[in-house]
Amino acid sequence: MSKQLFKIAVLPGDGIGSEIMRACIDVLQRLLADQAAFALTYVDCPGGAQHYADKGVALPDSTLRHCESADAILFGAMGLPHIRYPDGTEVNPQLGLRKDFDLYAGVRPIRSIPGVPSTLADPRAAEIDLVLIREQSEGLFYGRLYPEKQPPANDDEAFDLGRISRKGSERLFDYAFRLARQRRAANPAKGRVTCVDKANVLNSMAFFHQIYWQRARLNPDIAADHCYVDAMALNLLKRPWDYDVLPTENQFGDILSDLAAGLVGGLGMSPSGDIGDRYGLFQPSHGSAPDIAGQGKANPTAMILSAAMMLEWLGEKHALPESTAAAARLGRAVDAAFATGRLRSVEMGGSDGTQRIAAAICDALARQSVVA
Ligand code: ATP
Repeated sequence: MSKQLFKIAVLPGDGIGSEIMRACIDVLQRLLADQAAFALTYVDCPGGAQHYADKGVALPDSTLRHCESADAILFGAMGLPHIRYPDGTEVNPQLGLRKDFDLYAGVRPIRSIPGVPSTLADPRAAEIDLVLIREQSEGLFYGRLYPEKQPPANDDEAFDLGRISRKGSERLFDYAFRLARQRRAANPAKGRVTCVDKANVLNSMAFFHQIYWQRARLNPDIAADHCYVDAMALNLLKRPWDYDVLPTENQFGDILSDLAAGLVGGLGMSPSGDIGDRYGLFQPSHGSAPDIAGQGKANPTAMILSAAMMLEWLGEKHALPESTAAAARLGRAVDAAFATGRLRSVEMGGSDGTQRIAAAICDALARQSVVA
């Protein structure tokens, strides 16, 4: 049987993006060194806020073409606070990629890893295992994605056009119910969807809420409930272990995923996948962290776990169990690296940086090989 080759477009981007990407590729090479069924070929693609400052364009055409022809996109982080468009907004090309490749589901798993300290004292924090699904094609980011539709600002007022559509909401909720079903198959305690919205105040959210219940009725085997976003901010601090799959609007998902990451060791532990029906882009939930860039302090785990999500997605899309198994192996190696409780990223109050954490994950992979 010939080896299946996957082309991966690699966009390291700005700030800590290139540091965590280098660590991630090292770990992937270690993981797949003896892989007989498939291999990844990496194509380095420039882009980001610094690229915009230097060349006048955030994502060159060559990068877009590689993303289009790739089997998956690995993305570090883009955006730097001091580099802005003339209207004052930050250069965030990832928003354009989500639009161009219709990456409507921002899938953000939040899982306690044994040995990683939580901000919550309650021992049940060890049971946190939920997935936020951030809608990414519309919501309150709509005006930013489609500036031509936005009412113009003047000296006295500025607007942000929000949009909720039936199609955008139905595909988000269908994704959530599918994911809940998969999670229940792996763990019978899971399999519940909680819609997060603000249907008590905003018209668009009342529409979102109504469509949610219509889709819930088509998925009667999955438990469904609902929570307003302000209450969810509180509940994520009080009892996050009670939740499973949380679909929500674009802006709410942006905010809640940072909050939820804080519960399980910080942004450096929080992976994500931007998924559409055809394309998948995998990136940590965090940004370019300019405050720690260039110092070797960034935790690469979110990037590495995002690569594990990529392997899982490739495995499912191409019916390739070896890729799914590699994803699981990488997840186990991350767990094993942190299990002793001695590995502590800077965000956790420790001093272990990018290289130390990546090396610990590689060591854990090597130990697996010996055991196997
Ligand atoms: P964006 O809006 O672009 O998503 P952000 O506003 O969420 O970015 P980040 O760049 O993610 O900001 O950084 C927020 C804080 O988290 C910073 O103090 C940063 O140093 C820290 N941080 C983010 N990622 C990591 C990481 N991988 N390792 C350690 N600290 C991190």
